[in-house]
Amino acid sequence: MSDIIQLLPDHVANQIAAGEVVQRPASVVKELLENAIDANATEIKLIIKDAGKTLVQVIDDGSGMSVTDARLSFERHATSKIRAAEDLFQLNTKGFRGEALASIAAIAHVELKTKQDDDDLGTAIVIEGSEVKSQEVSVTPTGTSVAVKHLFFNIPARRNFLKSDTVELRHITDEFHRVALAHPNIAFAFYHNGSDLFNVPKENYRQRVVHIFGTKTNEKLVPVEEDTEVLKISGFVGKPNFSKKTKSEQFFFVNQRFIKSPYLNHAIKSAFEGLLKDGYHPSYFLNLTVDPKSIDINIHPTKTEIKFDDEHTLYAILRSAVKHSLGQFNIAPVLDFEHQSNLNTPYNYKDKRASTPAIEVDRNFNPFSSDSSGSQQKTSRNTGFKSAPAASWESLYVGLESKGNTSPSDFSEVTFESDSKNESIFTDSSIETRKTTFQLQQKYIVSTLKSGMLIIDQNRAHQRILYENFLRHITIKEATSQQLLFPLQLHFTPNETKIIDDLKADLEHTGFVFSELNGKGITITGVPVGVPESEVSIILEQLISDVENDVPDTHFSAADLLAKSMAKSLAIKNGQALNSTEQEHMVNSLFACKEPNVSPTNRPTFITMAVDDIEKKFM
Ligand code: ADP
Ligand code: MG
Repeated sequence: MSDIIQLLPDHVANQIAAGEVVQRPASVVKELLENAIDANATEIKLIIKDAGKTLVQVIDDGSGMSVTDARLSFERHATSKIRAAEDLFQLNTKGFRGEALASIAAIAHVELKTKQDDDDLGTAIVIEGSEVKSQEVSVTPTGTSVAVKHLFFNIPARRNFLKSDTVELRHITDEFHRVALAHPNIAFAFYHNGSDLFNVPKENYRQRVVHIFGTKTNEKLVPVEEDTEVLKISGFVGKPNFSKKTKSEQFFFVNQRFIKSPYLNHAIKSAFEGLLKDGYHPSYFLNLTVDPKSIDINIHPTKTEIKFDDEHTLYAILRSAVKHSLGQFNIAPVLDFEHQSNLNTPYNYKDKRASTPAIEVDRNFNPFSSDSSGSQQKTSRNTGFKSAPAASWESLYVGLESKGNTSPSDFSEVTFESDSKNESIFTDSSIETRKTTFQLQQKYIVSTLKSGMLIIDQNRAHQRILYENFLRHITIKEATSQQLLFPLQLHFTPNETKIIDDLKADLEHTGFVFSELNGKGITITGVPVGVPESEVSIILEQLISDVENDVPDTHFSAADLLAKSMAKSLAIKNGQALNSTEQEHMVNSLFACKEPNVSPTNRPTFITMAVDDIEKKFM
């Protein structure tokens, strides 16, 4: 038999390697920025078109390359950064594999221009799919420009796999932030489709953090400094009362390289112990400097994990340094995260509602008015934190008119034992005393069915009700908005503002009115009817966190995500006591939904237990 093993041609090998190095435009951004930094650039410009799908270009004023090096830089395993295996243990550069340019050139059109300071003329190389198209002498400034066009032009599957521009741009922005934060001594500019997203000079670390995360950040930074033999720490943690629902402000840099480390993250969390409310995450921007010999970064080209020789010691030092800073800056151990909505509201919301004509216009869409103060009081007592919107049970009427049209298959038969024709469950005050439902552990609503028993998860059920309601309003694009007496100004990072901006149209369909939405901040002049002003920032934060944590697939629908997120924010929580009227309304509204069986996140909203099953248990 003849031999069948062959060496792969270079361009094929490169294309395979590219799959490892380049997953999306953001990977190209990372590699090119790191190369510029390794070349000792002092100014780096990042130019993006169409979220990197059309163009990723990085221009630096670094060392540049000689003619030979320029050509060699596209060969696989061609690197100027290490020469021998020992060098791997002394790495002071970002790159060392010599794979990035070769990989990128295998799957895109690349134009390189480079010149060293001593030379009068530089070199320009065009290479497409590993094939050198031209190499010329070029008049170009000292430094290097690499333009990557038509990424994945020869791998349609990869190209199709790319997400929406919004998502890809977010990945790029994340990479850019990481690199820019790690190198405050370098000036950066970042342009997307011609508009400038960032433009930061060489500055100190505090200035850099503030530049990236917004002016408001300044007041929340607590410096952390520690210098020990094995570890030097410098940077900031956020004051606990500025903690966020998202993990978007958590940055570790080890020797100026962004890393993720659940273990070290835990050290910080434990330093914050007792200072954070459940579900909130501390912000931190910390630079750790260790002996390069004591870490192993040679795990995977794109991974942000790193191996430390002595993790336990680092953990202990980090934890105590952060604790010390929090203590030194007098951050009180007990923080009041709970505040009455009224304290924040410049007017009495209840009074406001009475005179809001919008409610008359569309009574059906009034999910969260607050006229059942009784249950609101219970709420704060029982759950320990406010949930004003949940206090209203008008929300539970939502969709009731359409009850006749919807016939959820399993439940067209549902009747309550005590239902009688001439009793309106919505107006009859005698309902209060009638017991067809009861609440179990302030979490479940239990009701009797002809055939047995029904147990409803109150939080999931309410999410379903609100979700369908919001979705309807978003899709039929009719907003019932209540105007705020005083515009509400909120501060978000540019990235977060971008997320809100992308969802602006849908948010407006739910009733939000924005008078300003730009890099300087967000000003809201109207909110959906029934949404208390004090909930607005929570809703938006939750929304941002949901968008960030959701890696939207191709079926991604902003409207759906928004409706889900708002329903999650506003649905009554477990632990809230409901009176029997409220319980019944919940049950009725749930079964008026199109899909009463599951919550918006596809979890069961209720279970049933047939009498037969109960009987069996007694046998
Ligand atoms: P690595 O960075 O791992 O060495 P790359 O493929 O990213 O591998 O780059 C190959 C080589 O090309 C680098 O080692 C460096 O010598 C040179 N190079 C790449 N980008 C630049 C740049 N912006 N300025 C100067 N030299 C560069
Ligand atoms: Mg590199």
